[in-house]
Amino acid sequence: MNRYRGRFAPTPSGPLHFGSLVAALASYLDARQADGDWLLRIEDIDPPRCPPGAADTILRQLEAFGLHWDGPVHWQHARDDAYRTALDSLAARGLAYPCSCSRKQWRGYPTYPGWCRDGVRASGKPVAWRLRSDLGLRPVTWQDRLFGTQRFDPAELGDVVLERKDGLWAYQLAVVVDDADQGISEVVRGHDLLDNTPWQRQLQHALGHPEPRYLHLPLIMDGGGQKLSKQNLAPPLPTEDAAVRPLLHAALAALDQAPPEALSTAPVGEQLAWAIDAWSPARIRPVAERPRATD
Ligand code: GLU
Repeated sequence: MNRYRGRFAPTPSGPLHFGSLVAALASYLDARQADGDWLLRIEDIDPPRCPPGAADTILRQLEAFGLHWDGPVHWQHARDDAYRTALDSLAARGLAYPCSCSRKQWRGYPTYPGWCRDGVRASGKPVAWRLRSDLGLRPVTWQDRLFGTQRFDPAELGDVVLERKDGLWAYQLAVVVDDADQGISEVVRGHDLLDNTPWQRQLQHALGHPEPRYLHLPLIMDGGGQKLSKQNLAPPLPTEDAAVRPLLHAALAALDQAPPEALSTAPVGEQLAWAIDAWSPARIRPVAERPRATD
């Protein structure tokens, strides 16, 4: 059997918040219980969105919560060649194409209508590269470990961008290339990415990569019913131990692991040891979104 390899893959557009803690913790516990590796990948492919120092803050936050990763940190900014090779291979087989259209031009459509599939419409203009979602693996099905059988037709989701007009790599391509190169066997992440998985499965199939297993997690919402996110300025995770302990406990509760009350003041090492042993993804209620419990 292949070795279990999981990962946490934050975008350093700001510090981690409670929602990111829940995702990091679930993937950590899942890997550690399986005696597997847990890798850290910093998804910094979009430098304008990543303020200086944010990645360092993330590393310090993870350490404060006792979430120690295996091996060196994997940085996406250094992976240009690997992404280029993947895109070239798709393009050579007609599975990716250049597109000069602007979002304004297809404003009235739910997804990009594929106008450049048979040749760029406006030559001489900057181009993005898009996936031919109609030619690849269809439909895409998988057994999500929490949400059960999933079935999507990627062509209905549209020809997603793989390389942007400004030359920056897009998440869908980078994540697939890196998951494969890092030998990731298990993806544990938020429900907001569940409907990105069909494109990623299509890309894995086209590039001949193995299919990881997927466990998507309920998203944590704030009091106003908004997803906790860096954009919504969710409070950053603390790094002082006294504040870290109850928050780790709250994250275990948000994952429906029912941690004993007495554990809420215990050192992080003790909480994590209990949680690795007790970890049961089957206990997580399969809801797409859930309010953050106050405890
Ligand atoms: N970088 C993505 C994010 O921070 C997560 C990618 C993934 O887990 O596939 O939302």
